[in-house]
Amino acid sequence: MRILIIEDEAQLQAQLASAVAAAGHTVELASDGQEGCYLGEVESFDAVILDLGLPLMDGLSVLRHWRAQGCSMPVLILTARNSWQEKVAGMDAGADDYLAKPFHMEELLARLRALLRRLSPHASSIWQCRDIRLDTRQASVWVQGQPLNLTSHEFKLLALLMQQPGQVFSRSQLSEHLYPQDSERDSNTIEVFIGRLRKKLPSDSIETVRGMGYRLRS
Ligand code: CA
Repeated sequence: MRILIIEDEAQLQAQLASAVAAAGHTVELASDGQEGCYLGEVESFDAVILDLGLPLMDGLSVLRHWRAQGCSMPVLILTARNSWQEKVAGMDAGADDYLAKPFHMEELLARLRALLRRLSPHASSIWQCRDIRLDTRQASVWVQGQPLNLTSHEFKLLALLMQQPGQVFSRSQLSEHLYPQDSERDSNTIEVFIGRLRKKLPSDSIETVRGMGYRLRS
């Protein structure tokens, strides 16, 4: 999934980015409130990790702005330690969950999984679609009980398709999901990745919907 991380402390931002990417997500970063606010409004994300203490525009204002604009993606806020006022203000502004600093990365990942689960029809971190089983926690996949070796791009594509089996995803949606930066996007490469995934999955798993995109057969 596509996750936006807005954090101004460089070291923490880097730790968050590597942990969230290692969990199989595509990460986009912002280091101040204005940039983060803009990205969250114009691009689509499956979830946002939002620090409240940010330069240029504070996290609460960012969150209030999004909610006022109808942006409803799940948002996990990072609050200062022992500041119950910040937690209350954050939840009132439309946060879905909060975590007080300092926190364990494992806890952050667990809360992120919980937020993403609420979006998805799947009730647990292990998703099953016909013979394919995908563990969002370990970023691993099995087919008929056998582990499948996927590259991170292949995993991200499959995870998106499995998030909503039966739903058609256009090449540009898949490309946006795979490449956080506009400049890297090339929807032709999606065909290549879909082709590789098809070779690894049971033969009729991914269906091409002419003129529209691809879907996973449910
Ligand atoms: Ca901060």
